[in-house]
Amino acid sequence: MTAAKSNELAAPLGILGGGQLGRMTIQAASTLGIDVVVGDFKPRSPAGRLAQGEVIFTGGWDDNEAITEIARSAPVITLENEFVDACVLEKLEGAGSTVLPTPDCVRTVQDKLKQKTAMQSAGIPVPEFRKVEHPDDLAMIGDELGWPFVLKARRDGYDGYGNRKLDHGSDPASTCEELGWPERELFVEQFVPFERELAVIVVRGRDGETINYPVVETQQDPELHICRVVIAPADIPATVAEQAEAIARQAVESVGGTGTFGVEMFLLQDGQVLVNELAPRPHNSGHYTIEGCVTSQFENHVRAVLGLPLGDPSLREGAAVMVNLLGYGGEMPGKDQFDSALSVPGVHLHNYGKDQSRYGRKMGHITACGSSTEDALDRAQRAADQIRM
Ligand code: ADP
Repeated sequence: MTAAKSNELAAPLGILGGGQLGRMTIQAASTLGIDVVVGDFKPRSPAGRLAQGEVIFTGGWDDNEAITEIARSAPVITLENEFVDACVLEKLEGAGSTVLPTPDCVRTVQDKLKQKTAMQSAGIPVPEFRKVEHPDDLAMIGDELGWPFVLKARRDGYDGYGNRKLDHGSDPASTCEELGWPERELFVEQFVPFERELAVIVVRGRDGETINYPVVETQQDPELHICRVVIAPADIPATVAEQAEAIARQAVESVGGTGTFGVEMFLLQDGQVLVNELAPRPHNSGHYTIEGCVTSQFENHVRAVLGLPLGDPSLREGAAVMVNLLGYGGEMPGKDQFDSALSVPGVHLHNYGKDQSRYGRKMGHITACGSSTEDALDRAQRAADQIRM
């Protein structure tokens, strides 16, 4: 990857996607004096509300006018979700912008089957998986991989919405249809009886320099399959942490990543670590880094894509805990709820500024740092319990 050109720092950074990840990237960019132009479908998105410029893709990501406009304003463009098709990223490159992570990398990562194949070819431990051509294949795949197994959409899945667990007795055809088959391609993964879920944020610079944050434990809501709590550092033996960090770095290298990546992993009973998936962008498991680490995942993402030196990823204190504020689908909280949450000492509230709550939607998060996990978890959870968004 070529070095950054000096005019790239004077011009705005482009971010495709207007969600909370874009919003927190803008907050980090603004500290460095870097303006941001956001591309999204609608105005006043969580990121658009903070950006110095906004380009609205009224015709979808394929809107050529919007592509030309954003490429004209931003010499470097990155993304905050993996749902922008790689062909669109290539068009932006064709219009003169540098796109990071590269379109080739995003093409691999945005298709979970291609992503897993790339990691497996690089010798990275992943759960066993199979391509699905037709629902009729599932009975044979189940006999081969074992029952139950997990059926996944290859593309556009998030927060568990593209996954279904299948057991003997489930109806393969209707489960495939629920996930969008035949329009949407599917694959199957063995069900992993993990002991815990872990994650590592890895940042790779334009020159290939790679750093990683500490291994964290992520706890998912058992019903929603969405992350509820992140605990940094994970309470695991040093040998397991070293293994997880090495695997996470190799995983990002295996797809030629540039910028911040979230690497989600399963920890098995015997201490073995398997990669679940990669996200080619800042990740929910790294929100604690804003207050918890010397340099946040968002600032390091900006530094990485602009070719600046990467910052120190180490924890400032012994522990940091992040609790997500997941939507209830009702009214937005009033001042009394903010009062109660912010009365808990040392907590940091992030409200993403979403107009509408939906059940399970990520509306904000709370972070607490401290000398011990117990103390940080107690305060973060107590504050989160005060707010219904
Ligand atoms: P998404 O991309 O929608 O977040 P994931 O594939 O990461 O979906 O799955 C969401 C959650 O579902 C994981 O965090 C994990 O709890 C569970 N899960 C996913 N794949 C498997 C698997 N192969 N075995 C067991 N649990 C799984």
